[in-house]
Amino acid sequence: MAELSIPAAVYIAILEAATAGYPEEVCGLIAGKHGQAARHYPVENIRHSPVVFEMEPVQQVKAMVAMEEEGLDLLAIYHSHPGGPAWPSAIDVAKAYYPDVIQLVISLENQNHPRLAAFRISEGQVWPVNWAVTSEPGI
Ligand SMILES: [Zn+2]
Repeated sequence: MAELSIPAAVYIAILEAATAGYPEEVCGLIAGKHGQAARHYPVENIRHSPVVFEMEPVQQVKAMVAMEEEGLDLLAIYHSHPGGPAWPSAIDVAKAYYPDVIQLVISLENQNHPRLAAFRISEGQVWPVNWAVTSEPGI
C-alpha cells in the first residue's frame, strides 16, 4: 500500500512546473489528508539555483495558512533536480527539518522522462517511500 497517493492532476502539475522552471530548481508544498494528497502550492525558489532551493518565506506561510483553512495537512515538500538524480542531495539531507513530511524529488536528468521519487529523511538517513498516482481528484 502506498504511503502517499498523488492525484494524477497534481502529479502532472508538479512535473510540468519542474520542466517549466528548468534549469532552476523549483519547489513547493503538497497538502492532503491521511496520505492522500489533494493540492499543491508552488513556492518561489529565492535562490534561483540549479542545485539548491530555498522557499520564499511569505509564500510558504501563505500556503501553510491556506491548507490549514481547508483542513488539510502538509504531507510533502517537492523540489526538482534539473541535472541531478531522483535522490536527495547532501544539502537536502542536511536541511531536512521535517522528518514527518515526505520529500519528493523530481529529476530532470532525462528531460523527456522526468522521474519522481519520494523519501523520508530522518537524522541524516534517507528512506524511500512507496507512493502512487491515483485517478481520484483528491479527497
Ligand atoms: Zn535537492
